[in-house]
Amino acid sequence: MTNLFKLASQMGHEQVVFCQDQVTGLKAIIAIHDTTLGPALGGCRFWNYESEDDALNDVLRLSRGMTYKAAVAGLNLGGGKAVLFGDPQKLKSEALFRAFGRFVNSLGGRYITAEDVNINVDDMEYVALETKYVTGISTHAGSGDPSPYTALGVLYGMKAAVKHRLKRDSLAGLTVSVQGVGHVGYNLCKLLASEKVNLIVSDINAANTRKVQQDFGAQIAENDHILAEKADIFSPCAMGAVLNDETLPMLKAKIVAGAANNQLAEEQRHGQMVQELGILYCPDYVINAGGLINVSHELRGYDPRASEKDTAKIYDTLLKIFEESDRSSIPTHIASDRFAEKRIREVKAVSALNQSVKNQNWIDASRK
Ligand code: NAD
Repeated sequence: MTNLFKLASQMGHEQVVFCQDQVTGLKAIIAIHDTTLGPALGGCRFWNYESEDDALNDVLRLSRGMTYKAAVAGLNLGGGKAVLFGDPQKLKSEALFRAFGRFVNSLGGRYITAEDVNINVDDMEYVALETKYVTGISTHAGSGDPSPYTALGVLYGMKAAVKHRLKRDSLAGLTVSVQGVGHVGYNLCKLLASEKVNLIVSDINAANTRKVQQDFGAQIAENDHILAEKADIFSPCAMGAVLNDETLPMLKAKIVAGAANNQLAEEQRHGQMVQELGILYCPDYVINAGGLINVSHELRGYDPRASEKDTAKIYDTLLKIFEESDRSSIPTHIASDRFAEKRIREVKAVSALNQSVKNQNWIDASRK
């Protein structure tokens, strides 16, 4: 593993922790990016990485993304993430998750874990046997599956995009193409159907598209044709890097509003391309923050109504980002990065001020 310190300092990480447990086969990396706003919260994913470098790069990139997501969502949380590497099918066990829980606990609350790819609520409950620094569990007043809240946030994001671009308050009568109708995509289709939206869906799992067709009357598109479908909004809810050199020229919709992480294949280049093509892009980490907002509520006593109310704020946040993008002629993903960085800078300054007041009080007291 080369240049770890160089990489971590370029990306601004505070701490990277390597964890291993020979008995259970646990190999994990926990990355804490920035705790200016609060403890670093972010999911742990289980993935069979090709190399340790791939695992490290992934956790550094994802934890940094969590800092930005929490900052723009107005949460008092920092950014962190964990990756467990190896084949989840072979390695998953109660003992492995409990070993991971003990490592999380050893960080004393600097990192709070949650579910991510290949991890479910049951796995998290094993983690919770060893540490209180865990969210997204179904017991102990936990918030459970975050997907319905992520979907709700995407719905508010779509409404903001439609307000900004089409000057409309309602989604009724519009056509939305949804790529991937798994946990988030299905819940999103349910919400959109109740808003009288026409749905076009695709999924590599035919059972998922059939269900959405049966439940909400969605039209099914071929997987490789979903971007070319005539729609007002394209909603990527499957995998990342979906906006790239190949797909962008065929995209018919003029609004992109979906839950998938890392939608821009190359952030700067494709973010610019999206703007030049006149497409209004809802930055992924802003529009998909509903799940994070929901788990953050566990930390202060879970109340689903309060969580829904905070998720609805994604609407106003996105409107501000669109306005800043127009005002400064910058792509929307750059506008949202600027909001995140500004909030972190300002809170850091306030913290430094508080510290200097504390120091002065201490000096005054010791001189008496
Ligand atoms: P999921 O695994 O439940 O659903 C993804 C769906 O996409 C599956 O049905 C899968 O068959 C389908 N799919 C995969 N590749 C596809 C392709 N090439 N074309 C069409 N369909 C394809 O995952 P999810 O929890 O619904 O999350 C969806 C996306 O949203 C992911 O990128 C995830 O990282 C992101 N996200 C999810 C949450 C959450 O709360 N679950 C929060 C933030 C971001």
